[in-house]
Amino acid sequence: MKKILLVTSNQEKIKEYRQLLQDLPFEFHFLDELKIKEEPKETGHTFKENAFIKSSFYLPLIDEETYILSDDSGLNIIALPDILGVNTHKDALRFGSQADFNQYLVKTLKEVRDAYFTCVICLMSKRETIFFEGRCEGRISKTVLNGPNGFGYDPIFIPKGHRTSFSRLDVKIKNAISHRARASQKLKYFLKERN
Ligand code: IMP
Repeated sequence: MKKILLVTSNQEKIKEYRQLLQDLPFEFHFLDELKIKEEPKETGHTFKENAFIKSSFYLPLIDEETYILSDDSGLNIIALPDILGVNTHKDALRFGSQADFNQYLVKTLKEVRDAYFTCVICLMSKRETIFFEGRCEGRISKTVLNGPNGFGYDPIFIPKGHRTSFSRLDVKIKNAISHRARASQKLKYFLKERN
């Protein structure tokens, strides 16, 4: 059986990918199985560059039968073009905590609250590198809508066609329409055609 090494230490992303890719006939492997603790520095200026950096870092560690799968993702808020995007993770860290940053964002925005998540998957083997992109449009809520699901900006993101945040929606809904779900659908189509 062919193998996929998922190179993220974000447990929430791992949880989502386990569901999103469950029907693929691949054996899944994770970073904690590797003997290295170092992580690549995300110095890219785009999601694609950062996804490429993440996958390339682990390339020397795999065999011919393995694909590396990395994910770089983030939130874009139309009214705040100078923050977030490729710096989504760093901006929350700089602010102090994700919860405080979410609180700040819901209060700062006025009428224009449009936003979208982007996810770029970089699939890399010894022979080839392919990118898959997914987007999920929506808006930033007026208050923080915490709930049992999701992570990061999910408590303040209401996907288009819905009335509440990803945190409060069923996980099945997020995994049908999210940026990660859309990129994964393209990835699955590619792998099914190829293998
Ligand atoms: P990355 O690890 O550099 O890709 O950072 C992505 C950041 O974007 C994460 O720290 C999250 O805060 C945020 N993010 C990405 N995808 C999602 C999502 O599905 N829901 C909520 N936040 C997300």
